[in-house]
Amino acid sequence: MIELKNLTLKEARLKLKQKEFSAVDLAKAYLDVIQANNQRLNVFLEVYDDVLKQAEAADEKIQRGEDLPLLGIPVALKDNILVKGKRATSGSKILEGFVAPYDSTLVKKLKDAGAVLIGRTNMDEFAMGSSTENSAFGITRNPVDEERVPGGSSGGSAASVAGDMSLVSFGSDTGGSVREPAAFCGLVGLKPTYGGISRHGLMAMGSSLDIIGPFTKTVTDSEILFDVVQGKDSMDSTTFDESTYVKKPLKEKMVLGVPYHLFKNGGLEKDAEEVFNQSIEKLKNIGYEIKEINLPNISYSLAVYYILMPAEVSSNLARFDGVRFGLHVEGKNLLEDYMKTKGTGFGKEVRRRILMGTYVLSSGYHDAYYNKALLLRQKISDEINEVFKEVDLIVTPTTPGPAFKIGEKSNDPLALYVQDIFTVPANIVGIPAISIPSGFVEVEGKQLPLGIQFMAPHNNEHLFFEVGKKFRGE
Ligand code: GLN
Repeated sequence: MIELKNLTLKEARLKLKQKEFSAVDLAKAYLDVIQANNQRLNVFLEVYDDVLKQAEAADEKIQRGEDLPLLGIPVALKDNILVKGKRATSGSKILEGFVAPYDSTLVKKLKDAGAVLIGRTNMDEFAMGSSTENSAFGITRNPVDEERVPGGSSGGSAASVAGDMSLVSFGSDTGGSVREPAAFCGLVGLKPTYGGISRHGLMAMGSSLDIIGPFTKTVTDSEILFDVVQGKDSMDSTTFDESTYVKKPLKEKMVLGVPYHLFKNGGLEKDAEEVFNQSIEKLKNIGYEIKEINLPNISYSLAVYYILMPAEVSSNLARFDGVRFGLHVEGKNLLEDYMKTKGTGFGKEVRRRILMGTYVLSSGYHDAYYNKALLLRQKISDEINEVFKEVDLIVTPTTPGPAFKIGEKSNDPLALYVQDIFTVPANIVGIPAISIPSGFVEVEGKQLPLGIQFMAPHNNEHLFFEVGKKFRGE
């Protein structure tokens, strides 16, 4: 029996190399857990039929003495990441029957690194949500407390790692969809610098905000995965060369900035505030300087995000017209085809955002909404970059509180949008951010995990990897 609960990528690589277990043993261990729990938790929408074949191929390479960074490591993928020859639906009925014609750059890199791809995980439809209750294929349950949501929109990918159904996984983060479920499931969730990982083969939500990121149990593993999959890609012009942004050298005594004003006035649940304050004390004890910072316009981030994101959504999702991909519902004429296909294929939240996006881009309103939001985006960006002259990292809680109950907020879109209050600024500005487990709150006799978020200047992930490892004692 392989002990999966605390197994990290780093340890698994070592044990595979030392032949303590084989890649097939490891894959089988995860498949057994999936077999036992997936029906109840609804984490995987599909478990690939060639998992053991991939694991056998990895074992052959191990036998030959090959040493690839992810050789034999079981990885799960969010359902919006393309794997050639496999289905991908983005949690939507509109992509019924769609089979990916090519590998995303992420998947190409994972395959080259020897990873064993387990399957595709459940998600909020087209990555719109904070709870994985918006999928066309049912809700996913949080393995930490099955009455609660795993967070979203990459809830399936988070639950797969937290529930020992894969060793690591990938999701996408447009406004917090990797960091928020990581916090709710007790994991490390990374949102790299915009353009840090290629988006080629990731289904687009808000193209100026989207980024792929990994879920892991440790900061060390997050760094390992990031190193494998990051980098310039000719298929995504927003990826960049290492030299594009200055990499700050690691300092002995880093300065961490905390915008207390953002969550002092009721933005944070009481217990969560206590856990955050304890984390700050811990960081001080490690030897970091804590500095209170002021970001006057950061509180507008959520409003800016919920204008820009739907605008981009309305444009990106126009391609699902019932002609080119997936579902087609026949009408009397082309317009009816569109209306019937989109009306049955898209869920409620997706339709809401397409409508909002179309509205803020309409000729009568784009000056009032879209253009204003763009100006504010620049302002928030300037403020944050200015603050980075004084501090090395910005620190906030990841979410206002721990995982909430299934159904608790599903009828109130605004209550769900508020979950993103601390995570959206990093997407708006394009800077990297990470959520790291920070402690627990006890709710109804259960220990629910929380996360602490660190944001760094563009291309300076190494700064929070360093602090994060110290914080977690890795
Ligand atoms: N919860 C946010 C939203 O619903 C973020 C989604 C995401 O990051 N993909 O838009």
